Amino acid sequence: MQFISTRGKDSVSCSAQAIAKGLAHDGGLFVPEKFPLVNAEEFNKMLDMDYAQRACLVLHKYLEEYDYDELLAACIKAYDKFEDSDAAPIVKIDESTFIMELFHGPTLAFKDVALTLLPYLMRKGCDISGIKDEILILTATSGDTGKAALEGFKGADGIKVMVFFPSDGVSEMQKLQMCTQEGDNVKVVAVKGNFDDCQTAVKNIFSDKEFNAKLKDDSVVLSSANSMNFGRLAPQIAYYFSAYCDLVNSEEIKMGDKINFVVPTGNFGNILAGYYAKQMGLPVNKLICASNDNNVLTEFFADGTYDTNREFFKTISPSMDIIISSNLERLIFELCGRDAAITEKRMLDLKKIGNYSLEKAEKEKIDKEFFADFADEEDCKETIADFYDENGYVLDTHTAVAVSVKNSYVDFTGDETPTVVLSTASPYKFSHDVLSAIDGKAPADPFKCADKLFELSATPIPTQISELKTKEIRFKEVIDKTQTFDAVLSFLNK
Ligand SMILES: *Cc1c(COP(=O)(O)O)cnc(C)c1O
Repeated sequence: MQFISTRGKDSVSCSAQAIAKGLAHDGGLFVPEKFPLVNAEEFNKMLDMDYAQRACLVLHKYLEEYDYDELLAACIKAYDKFEDSDAAPIVKIDESTFIMELFHGPTLAFKDVALTLLPYLMRKGCDISGIKDEILILTATSGDTGKAALEGFKGADGIKVMVFFPSDGVSEMQKLQMCTQEGDNVKVVAVKGNFDDCQTAVKNIFSDKEFNAKLKDDSVVLSSANSMNFGRLAPQIAYYFSAYCDLVNSEEIKMGDKINFVVPTGNFGNILAGYYAKQMGLPVNKLICASNDNNVLTEFFADGTYDTNREFFKTISPSMDIIISSNLERLIFELCGRDAAITEKRMLDLKKIGNYSLEKAEKEKIDKEFFADFADEEDCKETIADFYDENGYVLDTHTAVAVSVKNSYVDFTGDETPTVVLSTASPYKFSHDVLSAIDGKAPADPFKCADKLFELSATPIPTQISELKTKEIRFKEVIDKTQTFDAVLSFLNK
């Protein structure tokens, strides 16, 4: 299957190349030339499959040139790193509310679902594409991608990973998780500024032709582990199908019934995977886009204008503190009928004047498919407290934003369609803010908070959290955003 750039000036003949390259040369994102369908027979077969088998079936629709059995073996190996080998278990809350817990992987965030598999997809992708250079994965992170990428790629042959995170934009636990990372092929650097500064710095490195040519002379190519890479997106499509199968198996729904998904959204990668699942034939009613105070997407869905000229807020759901949602470009491409010229114009407007608007017909399309709202800091904390009181279940701050928006959606529409809320992180990653939401107060030490949360929830503290207490801090460097190019060269010893 061919992959084309959303900006029309680059294409590759297969997914392996799209994954190996990460970003298209024209600054756009790779998308499949068409959406493959999961037919009724395959869908029925999927009911009896375990998570790894379901993932392989969905993935192979795009990754046709990967050997099926080898891909299956890679999926089994990746998802064995999750509790009970299930990357997406479902918890029933009430008759129409289900939580899909995507955080039982190595770094306790949903990004593990893709990043446990991406090293295989990338190494194989390079083999298939005949790329023999060393690969440098450059990643900007709002906290969770960085750690998941470091953990996923540590020790990988012929691949180095470099992570930039905003110095004051991540939780204490997230920072500790990254700065204690083991492995000889990894590097972590804090950048003064917010996530958008980091993301822009990384994009600038990718699009600097001279710099890339210089690296190429040294047999190094850049790639990305951000959700701009199709290899990050594809594994995320699978859990939408898996959730559906689980609900059919537990007789909560019948095959063919439509369901809703609520997604706590930042870079628009997770929810876009849901949109892709729908294009592949998954019966989805509404995709509900939940934002925090950085509610640029809420406004976009309300009035059809994406406007980044706004204040940036640092919130207690830091992985969603994003104003430029990169993956929206892929949705825009679909909305305008896959017109690369229109997509490119809007993305250039975004860069130049900070906004663009949809046409009326496009706006009507998104009204049918999406609902969007946001939860402010108070809403988020109240939701954590209420949900704990009512269900004895502890939500992390990101998932709480989603639950709060789910409640407003139901109040607003009266819709009783079964709804799956995607839970994207373990509450232990954000133990300070979660505990103070429930208890009204919390100790400054995040480990004491974790102990207290354990008393309240009786859910064991993951060892990935408790071991951080004694791990050596390996990375302490803080740089200016103008120094990122030099940081790359120094890591490569060039
Ligand atoms: C990354 C992240 C999100 C946002 O996901 P996107 O794909 O960027 O929209 C939400 N919650 C958590 C915990 C995350 O790590």
